[in-house]
Amino acid sequence: MVDARPHDASPHRLPEGQRHVIFLGPAGAGKGTQAAKLAERLQVPRISTGDMLRDALAHGTPLGRAAAPYLERGDLVPDDLLIGMIRERIKAPDCAGGYILDGFPRTLPQAEGYEQMVGEDANLLVLNLEVPRAELLKRLSGRGRDDDKDKAVERRLQEYEDRTRPLIEFYSRRRQLHRVDGFRPVETVYRDLETILEGRA
Ligand code: AMP
Repeated sequence: MVDARPHDASPHRLPEGQRHVIFLGPAGAGKGTQAAKLAERLQVPRISTGDMLRDALAHGTPLGRAAAPYLERGDLVPDDLLIGMIRERIKAPDCAGGYILDGFPRTLPQAEGYEQMVGEDANLLVLNLEVPRAELLKRLSGRGRDDDKDKAVERRLQEYEDRTRPLIEFYSRRRQLHRVDGFRPVETVYRDLETILEGRA
């Protein structure tokens, strides 16, 4: 009997000790798309802090109310809120076999807070999707003209430059960072991520 399943249909496990994957990179770099594909392949949850915050906002929870003004402006939400939210989320049973963080950490205090949570020797895999600024602007504001929206897009990219970019150095020093050229077709980028995950890059 021939096994008709395509070779790559079987779920992969994260290599032992590499159970947390972090996606860095600015808004518009393709983190959400790639994180969702990888989560499906590895059969682990994708934790998107942006989705969690928007959800909290939609449900009018205390967290959502606290985050609302920041979300509207495109500013980063205060670190203590994010750290508390992630600390609770990763305790959930579905995270026991690993998870993918999409949009956290985004500041040095968040990265340090996370390191305290999981321990310094946790073998993180950090994927940095790199996309030129002009392309990011096109992707983020290409869907219509709206001054407020354009301002928020600018703010989000500026927040990235000022507060998230330093994480590249933070994780490079720990030898956990992998740089990926995100200015290519989705499937091409994804193949690179798989190669990294399999330890071949
Ligand atoms: P995203 O969908 O990941 O681009 O996130 C949307 C918005 O949620 C961001 O512009 C921030 O206002 C907020 N946000 C998401 N993740 C974080 C984080 N790790 N730290 C601070 N704010 C965040």
